Amino acid sequence: MSLIVQKYGGTSVADIERIRNVASRVIETKKSGYQTVVVVSAMGDSTDELIKMARELNPNPSSREMDMLISTGEQLSIAMLAIAIESKGFDVISLTGAQCGIKTDEIYSKAKIDEIDTRRIRQELEQDRIVIVAGFQGTTKTGDITTLGRGGSDTTAVALAVALEAEKCEIYTDVLGIYTTDPRLVKSASLLKSISYDEMLEMAKLGAGVMHPRSIELARKNNTKLVVRSAFDFNSNGTEIIGAKKMEKAQVRGVTIDENIVRISVPNVPDKPGIAFKLFSSLVDLNVHIDMIIQNLNHDGLNDISFTVPSEDLDHIMPAINAYVEEVGSSPARIKKEVSKLSIIGTGVTSDVKIASGLFGRFYDLGINIEMISTSEIKISCIIAQDKSQIALESVHEYFNL
Ligand code: ADP
Ligand code: ASP
Ligand code: MG
Repeated sequence: MSLIVQKYGGTSVADIERIRNVASRVIETKKSGYQTVVVVSAMGDSTDELIKMARELNPNPSSREMDMLISTGEQLSIAMLAIAIESKGFDVISLTGAQCGIKTDEIYSKAKIDEIDTRRIRQELEQDRIVIVAGFQGTTKTGDITTLGRGGSDTTAVALAVALEAEKCEIYTDVLGIYTTDPRLVKSASLLKSISYDEMLEMAKLGAGVMHPRSIELARKNNTKLVVRSAFDFNSNGTEIIGAKKMEKAQVRGVTIDENIVRISVPNVPDKPGIAFKLFSSLVDLNVHIDMIIQNLNHDGLNDISFTVPSEDLDHIMPAINAYVEEVGSSPARIKKEVSKLSIIGTGVTSDVKIASGLFGRFYDLGINIEMISTSEIKISCIIAQDKSQIALESVHEYFNL
């Protein structure tokens, strides 16, 4: 029998009515002959609310206790969905990450899945039950609860689809699928019928909150059939995420904006071997995602090194940066919080210089200064002032006829 994994996000299970709606969809899927595994996120904004409550007690709680706390959101929603399905007379069981054998490393709040022991899920499916799994969580070897990072239920779903060799993985969310840019920010954004794993991965990493980046990495590696679609409008087919099609022409497929970053500059570091190494090796054990590293030659044997990090990592890495400044005798680090990263994504975008010049031309027309640029084969990213991000996003989206 074919097996399907479906994932429903927080908005899709935000209240009783929506949980009923999801229950009906799941039952329909089961009735159509699938072995059905369903991953759910916490109801509505409940993860944010839990985090807010904890911060009232302690602005800097330990990540182990935070994981213990925020994993409860998903435990609540799996039970609610199972109860809704039960009430319609279907055999169903809800399982936490631990109960369904999701084993992770020990990096609390950003854990990676090491393996999934699928025996329990298989047993339940063989009993002809619908299986509801708590997204976003797992346990370490010693049995402590971990979470996979914000938005991590997508990764739970794809990891289960891979481990169970599912026919496909469907991600149900609060928009019709993947758009050329966030449809909440730009009303004229268009729905994409399909997008390649590479393009989607880049969009997810660059701030399109719609999919957890690691879920796309996993799907790409395993060629998992992945569809993003609406939990409210079942008539729309959504967006398929697929292997790259050979395209003749470089084409911009999407635009993203990420406001959740800070720019750190360390001015006047000595211009000699080992200086960049020292800085970034001091950050290795802090599990921070560094992006857009730029070193520019200053004068008199001195350089500036600048890079960006996610805003939430700033407090955590500042002691290491300050220690580095002390050690190499540079000027104090400069932090700029009011920045955004605007990116255009599409296979081959850097192979056609018209695309880069068109992008920079939009900023010029709007009088926006570009503070940093970084490129890869598949994207061009620019750091700009945060108060210009909305107008820049609209203008760039329009320019590329998306
Ligand atoms: P869920 O709770 O279902 O996981 P998310 O809030 O994580 O939902 O993701 C869906 C949201 O992602 C949408 O409401 C939309 O505002 C946002 N989003 C950002 N960029 C895009 C994009 N390119 N396409 C679709 N949605 C996007
Ligand atoms: N509930 C978690 C979060 O809000 C996981 C998820 O929604 O995927 O980040
Ligand atoms: Mg999400």
